[in-house]
Amino acid sequence: MASADTLTTPPGSLDAFWMPFTPNRKFKQAPRLIVGSEGLHYDLADGRRVLDAIAGLWCVNAGHRNPRVSAAMKAQIDVLDYASNFQIGHPAAFTLAQRLTQMAPAGMDHVFFTNSGSESVDTALKIAVAYHRARGDAGRYRLIGRERSYHGVGFGGISVGGIGRQRSTFGPLLNGVDHLPHTLDLARNAFSRGEPAHGIDKADALEALVALHDASTIAAVIVEPVAGSTGVLPPPRGYLKRLREICDRHGILLIFDEVITGFGRVGSNFASDLFGVTPDLITTAKGLTNGAVPMGAVLMRGAVHDAFMHGSVSAVELSHGYTYSGHPLACAAAMATLDAYTEDGLIARAAELSPYFEDGLHSLRGLPGVIDVRNVGLLAGIELQGWASGLGTHAQAVAQHCLDESGVLVRSVGDTIALSPPFTLERRHIDQIIDSLRAAIAQTAQATD
Ligand code: PLP
Repeated sequence: MASADTLTTPPGSLDAFWMPFTPNRKFKQAPRLIVGSEGLHYDLADGRRVLDAIAGLWCVNAGHRNPRVSAAMKAQIDVLDYASNFQIGHPAAFTLAQRLTQMAPAGMDHVFFTNSGSESVDTALKIAVAYHRARGDAGRYRLIGRERSYHGVGFGGISVGGIGRQRSTFGPLLNGVDHLPHTLDLARNAFSRGEPAHGIDKADALEALVALHDASTIAAVIVEPVAGSTGVLPPPRGYLKRLREICDRHGILLIFDEVITGFGRVGSNFASDLFGVTPDLITTAKGLTNGAVPMGAVLMRGAVHDAFMHGSVSAVELSHGYTYSGHPLACAAAMATLDAYTEDGLIARAAELSPYFEDGLHSLRGLPGVIDVRNVGLLAGIELQGWASGLGTHAQAVAQHCLDESGVLVRSVGDTIALSPPFTLERRHIDQIIDSLRAAIAQTAQATD
């Protein structure tokens, strides 16, 4: 049985755990372990308390150990621990699904539950392909992703994903996948605030793919409205709308991967709301349960769902699902999280804090090696000149400096420092994050002079 001791004391050997997305050998030479959390902070095993400026991994939007979420999970586990949703169900999954449709952009009125962002993506891709088949249009099988996109780690997700190494490591991927060009344009758009002005034309690459393959072969396009893990890339003004128009013209489904941008991160319920573009499917996870327990959800337009609802009423309409789809504990956590977002006004708070956050970020312009600042809502990236040394990349050195010298946890993604603090922060915490970055950027620049 786990004792308090095994939860707080670093184990004798770190060897057995193969850590995900981690240079394991390096980490295990100098491990950093988190042993507790509260609000905006993590407690480290070495006794330090640090400010979590990344909300765990872009997920703890309502703050760590949010009291609503903790209480709901404790209450749920004493009533119903597990129930399948295969041919039998439990009330919380229905209630949560309904609440999500009320929160989602108008018309997104059905929900399929998963356990992660990766599962949400693969579920959405499968639904998109199956949708066309259900309508007698089985020739539509092609999926179109985008360069510099991250859609999780399933075979579907890495196939449409645009990160070379994650694709090449795993050999042949899904057939019939193409990629749109990414939208980063440092020459024209560096230091934009929100949506950059230039690059709507990048959406026209979709017309080129239609011309190449014929629309009758294309099932869906998937994009992150703001690409997160590849460096925080907001969409050029008008770009998402143009994608929507092209999809509509050719009967192609549009999927927005809102695993990071959903649930208030960009200052609105979904990025779809902020940018005024409603896709056919939205993938979510992370902020859905405030990170307290794994859960994802795919939201979809009625027409997508309804295409499956024909034939015998005793037939399974979609041969897909997970043992833990709509798990009771996850549903309880999600409903309490949604309460925190709405009743505690946290999404409004994220929107309110955004301009102050943006001004702070842009005050870093002009520091040595800072080549771009990108932001939407409480989501931001600071791109640094790319150099690598024995310490790793410039961005890794800055992130390490922030943690070691000023107790602020930020995340390096490639050459970019990513920020996505919990919405519960105050202006003084924004100041703390910016001050920490300012010092780290100045120090690391000096160290390499
Ligand atoms: N899609 C996007 C946009 C993400 O950012 C992530 C994770 O960062 C995923 C999918 C995968 O989510 P998970 O790690 O929960 O599988």
